[in-house]
Amino acid sequence: EGRRGGIVIKDDWPGYSLDLFSYPAHYSGDLDCVYIPHGVIMDRTERLARNIMDDLGDHDIVVLCVLKGGYQFCADLVDRIKALSRNSNHTIPMRVHFIRLKSYVNDQSTEDLHILGAEDLSSLNGKNVLIVEAIVDTGKTMKTLLKHVEAAGPKMIKVAGLLVKRVPHNAACLPDYVGFEIPNRFVVGYALDYNEYFRDLNHICVISENGKMKYKI
Ligand code: 5GP
Repeated sequence: EGRRGGIVIKDDWPGYSLDLFSYPAHYSGDLDCVYIPHGVIMDRTERLARNIMDDLGDHDIVVLCVLKGGYQFCADLVDRIKALSRNSNHTIPMRVHFIRLKSYVNDQSTEDLHILGAEDLSSLNGKNVLIVEAIVDTGKTMKTLLKHVEAAGPKMIKVAGLLVKRVPHNAACLPDYVGFEIPNRFVVGYALDYNEYFRDLNHICVISENGKMKYKI
């Protein structure tokens, strides 16, 4: 049970004090706490890479990186899979494709989901596809994306999500590989943004009210 849902972060987890870590000075005052330190993300990613290798080793895969938020997780995950491939007899020949989705304004999900690069999905026909997403909230985005990818006729689809929010309605479409299950809070960093800010932050953090005001559009 523990493995599938990833590392569970409880509702009462206060995070680490910002004073205990380093982060860019241009964000001082904009954050409440360090929620998941960069090192922990990397350690968890290493294990996800291992799990993916165990399941998919010796298959060719096409990694489908969901931009923009997924770029850091995707790059680090692919990096770890490559490292494992170098050091074992199980190897995964990988290609990497990119797709861009956008549904958030400020910290609110909007109804219309824009997919850029959907026309390239035809190249996924007959392939083993690993979708790599930074975060699954309501699961709406993932559901829509899965519909598009399925329409391309791949041989197999697996999904890796670094973060999954603990919300009642998304249980039906959980990723196959989950990094962390987190409470329903808005997080930034490690390529996750708030109106394009905070992608240049290594740790996953909780934004402060001040930060929300400052970068609101
Ligand atoms: P869903 O469709 O699952 O509700 O939303 C998924 C998308 O919303 C993610 O791909 C991400 O872009 C955005 N999102 C959801 N929760 C958060 C969050 O806590 N922080 C950030 N930065 N983006 C989020």
